[in-house]
Amino acid sequence: MSTPRPISHIIKPQYVIEGAGVLLQRSIAPHRTNFYDPFLLFDHFAFNNPIEGPIRGFPMHPHRGIETVTYMLEGSVHHRDSLGNAGMIGPGDVQWMTSGRGILHEEMPRRGPSGAIYGFQLWVNLPAALKMSPPRYQEVSAAAIPTVTLDGATIRVVAGRVGAVGGPVTEIVISPIYWDVAVAAGGSFAVETPSEHTALAYVFEGAGRFGAEEETVEAVRMVAFGGGGQIRVRTDSGVRFMLIAGRPIREPIVPYGPFVMNTVEEIQQAFEDFRNGTLVR
Ligand code: FE
Repeated sequence: MSTPRPISHIIKPQYVIEGAGVLLQRSIAPHRTNFYDPFLLFDHFAFNNPIEGPIRGFPMHPHRGIETVTYMLEGSVHHRDSLGNAGMIGPGDVQWMTSGRGILHEEMPRRGPSGAIYGFQLWVNLPAALKMSPPRYQEVSAAAIPTVTLDGATIRVVAGRVGAVGGPVTEIVISPIYWDVAVAAGGSFAVETPSEHTALAYVFEGAGRFGAEEETVEAVRMVAFGGGGQIRVRTDSGVRFMLIAGRPIREPIVPYGPFVMNTVEEIQQAFEDFRNGTLVR
């Protein structure tokens, strides 16, 4: 086992309003400093009470130059795009959408039987060589996401490998880990990651002791790890988190709304294409 990664810092999610008035908890937002390269954004939507009324969602909007990863635990997101793709991301499902040169889509959350909507959206950068590639969807239903038990942890493997078990989302340029990890009370979890990869843990239930220094982190927080190999968590009361890791792209970025490109000129081109109706081929 390699040296455990220390915690670099802990992020408290901030409430933001996006789309048609949807209240989200955002822990990472796209920024030119690209501090979490290759990860650009992490949003958490959590609605648990019908008294909140209808959730209006995210009407038609474009993307270029990124991947968006939607993982639902309760409720669903109904989506359709201008290419004619449509579907529903239900509880336990994931959609890994590679926008490439452009898509125009809507994402409409709906409450589950209990009235709840609960899920996450991660944005992943694309390298310059793939920013203008054709769009691609990987949609995986809950039943097709393997669950692996490792010591005291139960892991839903969306992308990356746990021993012999590989997640169903493949051929992603940053070689990601995207796991939903639950560690039972009194349990521990340890996994090796390539030391140069960026690693994050979004703690959304319970509490655990994270990193080399075994600092206690309670839900809801994003842990950003420093360099090293091993990610280590112990818990007394039980903890659940999304483990996110991937290879940095190490290119300059210019984010602007739903577009993330490498230069200002490319952002201007994206707006021009959007206005001309040529964003989507
Ligand atoms: Fe979107």
